[in-house]
Amino acid sequence: MAFELPGLKYDYNALEPYIDARTMEIHHGKHHGGYTSKLNAAVEGSSMADQSIEDLLAMAGGNAAVRNNGGGFYNHNLFWKVMSPTGGGQPGGALLDSINDAFGSFGDFKEKFSNAAATRFGSGWAWLVKTDRGLVVTSTPNQDNPLMDVAEIKGLPVLGLDVWEHAYYLKYQNRRPEYIEAFCNVIDWTEVSKRLGS
Ligand code: MN
Repeated sequence: MAFELPGLKYDYNALEPYIDARTMEIHHGKHHGGYTSKLNAAVEGSSMADQSIEDLLAMAGGNAAVRNNGGGFYNHNLFWKVMSPTGGGQPGGALLDSINDAFGSFGDFKEKFSNAAATRFGSGWAWLVKTDRGLVVTSTPNQDNPLMDVAEIKGLPVLGLDVWEHAYYLKYQNRRPEYIEAFCNVIDWTEVSKRLGS
């Protein structure tokens, strides 16, 4: 069964003014669409075609096409889901407790996450990851993620921020920190909570 580009739960312009409609359209249709079709091409005709994306990522270190395009497929699936036009603010409940346990306060978490996103050199992602020792902030290069065998910090990604220039250059040009701040206004904490509980 081929991997499919998922639809979004909101319109391309729904995250304005934080993420502009044109960026969303190109990012979803062209970039995510490209990763999806290249992933399908990479697994077609082999036993990999029957494996879940999680299983493919767990062995991605041995296959550059799966690592780049499987990572791109999974990472963007998560990215669209953890944003919402009604997002932003702070989480509550068990997620806030876990954040406080791991980082001291929500403010300290936000600073650490934003710093991970700002200081990732070149293209990559910032992550909030559920690990055996609680929540951890990390970042990865390119389309790597914490589910991969090659990841420095392994676990379940519950929040991910794309810091490739294609994610922000049209609106923010070289001002990555402004884009990171804007992203914080659309984080869907309800979705992040769901992932943490899974
Ligand atoms: Mn991207």
